Amino acid sequence: MDPVIIVGAGLAGYTLARELRKLAPEAPITLVTADSGALYSKPMLSNALAQGHTAQALVQSNAREQAAKLNLDLKPHCAATAIQAPEHVLETESGRLPYRHLVLALGARPRQPGFAGQEHVLSVNHLDDYARLRARLAPGAHVAIIGAGLVGCEFANDLAIGGHAVTLLETSARPLERMAPAGISRRLQDGLSGLGVQWHCGSGVASLRSQDDGYEITLENGTRLHADLVLSATGLVPETALAESAGLRVARGILVDHQLACSAPDIHALGDCAEVAGLLLPYVLPLMQQARTLAAILSGTPSRLTLPALPVAVKTPACPLVLCPPAAGAEGAWHCERDDGAGAIYRFQGADDKLLGFALAGDACGQRRQLAGFAPALLA
Ligand SMILES: Cc1cc2nc3c(=O)[nH]c(=O)nc-3n(C[C@H](O)[C@H](O)[C@H](O)COP(=O)(O)OP(=O)(O)OC[C@H]3O[C@@H](n4cnc5c(N)ncnc54)[C@H](O)[C@@H]3O)c2cc1C
Repeated sequence: MDPVIIVGAGLAGYTLARELRKLAPEAPITLVTADSGALYSKPMLSNALAQGHTAQALVQSNAREQAAKLNLDLKPHCAATAIQAPEHVLETESGRLPYRHLVLALGARPRQPGFAGQEHVLSVNHLDDYARLRARLAPGAHVAIIGAGLVGCEFANDLAIGGHAVTLLETSARPLERMAPAGISRRLQDGLSGLGVQWHCGSGVASLRSQDDGYEITLENGTRLHADLVLSATGLVPETALAESAGLRVARGILVDHQLACSAPDIHALGDCAEVAGLLLPYVLPLMQQARTLAAILSGTPSRLTLPALPVAVKTPACPLVLCPPAAGAEGAWHCERDDGAGAIYRFQGADDKLLGFALAGDACGQRRQLAGFAPALLA
């Protein structure tokens, strides 16, 4: 029997392999991945510098150990290059592999910032990127971070605790503008400022120039800054090229339905590369539920993906936050229930005061479960 082939050894690929193995102890499973196949927790990348962790220390197990543990035919350093969907064949750098079911768990790649000099910018979306950042980071170096979203603010907190000078550059007027109300952004800005983080909000980066002693950054408003390193955290773009060239339907991500099925038979996608029923869900909890649903389907049990409200914890110890933003385009407004020295609760309310989202800070973060129970499902 031809195997289930999973492409990608990130959390999506490995979680699916684990869930599938629980349900189908003997089924042949091949895992093909362009990287080394090391298992690590990606969320730790924005929390590991201050603790002095090397990239190697973040590896939970290597490809050989994972292959033995999950009984996989694991092919590391082997990029998938094409899909022959009608023949059920995956082409890879080391040959053609027939499949019974193919699962794309290809992840996403950092968005190119799009200004002159962007090639000098580092971004961290993989263990190898983290190793590169660490190798380039001299003690006390001044790091400019482009993008004050979730990942940018987490790196700012981590680098500042680690003794680095940090400047956050943000096009919008405030950090986390798309996910949180102004009161929460203010708290975060105050918390990070307390660690010495400098802010330039309201103007994008126009250009970056390499100099003998670092980089000169010019903002669109004309301000010039100097930094030893520039880190970009301007978001991710789902990895869709392989699917697109195979003729699969692609929009922002690889389009899948509630069964994680792509537009061609026996091909599925999950994790950061997938657009599930119109939603990009680039977080760990959604991919775990996707993996459980898909494992059931692939082992013969009809199943349908549903997702409750899934708040995200922002790993900024200077100002701990939990965010559960409303759906894009939801009509309503943020209301402050409480905002004091110890914590804050903001609710996004729609018609009839219906709770559509929330944002918590400090001691209120403990209320995440309770409030999530009242918030609308992410995917019904
Ligand atoms: C710094 C950082 C902090 C984060 N913090 C949080 C957090 O606190 N909470 C949270 O919920 N989420 C967080 N996230 C998001 C979360 O980590 C991701 O949603 C998740 O790890 C994505 O997993 P994935 O397997 O879909 O993709 P990836 O981890 O990107 O894996 C993709 C895999 O596909 C392989 N691949 C790609 N193309 C090919 C090809 N052609 N052939 C073979 N292999 C290929 C790659 O080598 C890789 O193994 C964070 C993300 C980052 C970057």
